[in-house]
Amino acid sequence: MCREWYGMNWIRKCLRLAIHMRDHGRCVYCEGSDKLTLDHLRPASKGGSNKPRNLVTACLSCNSSRGDTPWWEYADKWPGAAGRIQRFRRRSVKHLRPLARVALEQANNNVRSALDSSAQEQA
Ligand SMILES: [Zn+2]
Repeated sequence: MCREWYGMNWIRKCLRLAIHMRDHGRCVYCEGSDKLTLDHLRPASKGGSNKPRNLVTACLSCNSSRGDTPWWEYADKWPGAAGRIQRFRRRSVKHLRPLARVALEQANNNVRSALDSSAQEQA
């Protein structure tokens, strides 16, 4: 299963997927699962890193509505969000990276075999 990546190439796909797995595949704020992105808790423009501890899963809508608002203020609008963020960001993603890599390889293989079989059908 491979979600859309929104053309953001600043982070390896398997690390991005591992962070989404750590966060249970849902937005840490609203718990929605539509159009997932990574949200920098401390914005990159303010020196925030691309490390998993500074990154959480956020839907596109929360990510853009939050804007420059500090995460704890934005999290206040959603029940349980601040606690979720504090729990998830402390969890290591090390053990999830190999799983994410396998999932991405499988997704790539599925695409490849789908392309192969459609080429065979046309031949
Ligand atoms: Zn959201």
